[in-house]
Amino acid sequence: MGWTTIFNACIINFIIKTIEDYMIIKHRCEICDMPCKRTFSRVICSDKCRIFAYIKKKEDGCWVWTGKKGQDMYGQISVNGKRKRAHRVSFELFKEKILPGMLILHSCHNTLCVNPDHLRQGTVKENSNDMIAASRSLIGEKSRRAKLKEQDVKKIKELDKQGFCRLSIAKQYGITRECISSIILGKSWKHIN
Ligand SMILES: [Zn+2]
Ligand SMILES: [Zn+2]
Repeated sequence: MGWTTIFNACIINFIIKTIEDYMIIKHRCEICDMPCKRTFSRVICSDKCRIFAYIKKKEDGCWVWTGKKGQDMYGQISVNGKRKRAHRVSFELFKEKILPGMLILHSCHNTLCVNPDHLRQGTVKENSNDMIAASRSLIGEKSRRAKLKEQDVKKIKELDKQGFCRLSIAKQYGITRECISSIILGKSWKHIN
């Protein structure tokens, strides 16, 4: 990864005057391994390294925040003593300054993700359009899945055995005759006997 060499550790401008100073520079950042004067419980030299110290990289590319979380389900990070949302901090650190009034939108819809590649600036309107599109696709999936439940499939097989015609069963469940046939022939819902 290229980022380790992009930025320097906090040791810059740090002049060794005393033996304590010398002891301090013996620390190395756990992320980039640069000398670091930070002496908190974890030795992390910069805000950029702090982002890397509190994420878990997922296969889908998301950098899921493992640090503190707010009630709003966004990651929290404190920068210069101020509590901020981690994804916004990450966006500014790795991409660009957030313009006044702009939101940071997730292309992955994972509020805990701080991967700058999944983040973009957007207006409030763009955000609500995003959310409408996301909830629409979710509802679609649910209704598609909910059309038949396991118990319906069992009942359909039972009705077939009792001699009801496939078309009448299909009408009863609001699905096609082909669907009924494929259930009875065991092409779909194979796991239901
Ligand atoms: Zn570092
Ligand atoms: Zn993501």
